[in-house]
Amino acid sequence: MDAPLVLTTRLDPNEIDKEAHNIDCLREYPLELYRAAEAMKDTKEVEKLMDLVSGRIGTERQYEGFGFTHDTKDISEGPKQSSYTTLETMEDKMNAQLLLGKKIRAVDECDVATRVIDKHFLPDMAGNLRSFSAQTVRCTKCGEKYRRVPLSGRCICGNNLILTVHQASVKKYLEVSKDIGKTYGLSNYTLERIEVLEMSMASLFDNDKVRKCKLTDFM
Ligand SMILES: [Zn+2]
Repeated sequence: MDAPLVLTTRLDPNEIDKEAHNIDCLREYPLELYRAAEAMKDTKEVEKLMDLVSGRIGTERQYEGFGFTHDTKDISEGPKQSSYTTLETMEDKMNAQLLLGKKIRAVDECDVATRVIDKHFLPDMAGNLRSFSAQTVRCTKCGEKYRRVPLSGRCICGNNLILTVHQASVKKYLEVSKDIGKTYGLSNYTLERIEVLEMSMASLFDNDKVRKCKLTDFM
């Protein structure tokens, strides 16, 4: 998203990201748009009213005469910082978002929580769990990397090897997912997905052989 892979010297509007074709070029919005919104009409039905960039592709108008509704003196003007940067932990960010969702009547905060967990936390944890078991190890002294741990268990220079993916980064969102799951009453399906992932993590990180027992456990 932020690192350019290809640089283009000649911009062809037909080749750019299709999302950018959805920008409307009107200087003011027609009343029909609001009427259609009120009637909850399909967006496809009002598309032709909105003079989208997609309708200008291939004509001279694809480069010029783009309207807008609110003027600015600087196109890069905007908030210098947002709650996303001032709030430190992911848990704080999540709680702030859900609190806002609770206040806005049009927002179903349970749906928001489900989406964040479904699309963000779960894939992140599953991905990290996978990269944990397929990770490379690194020497603390010479920096040599190994795709597999050598049989000697040490670097060829004799030094210790350390992990490059840590348990903490795999479990990063587990607690916050469980908390949100409970607080917002998510569907059993989502709750069980979190549970299955937690079991996979436990099977990877917790050693079954070393189990501390108390005398009372046998009575
Ligand atoms: Zn080494």
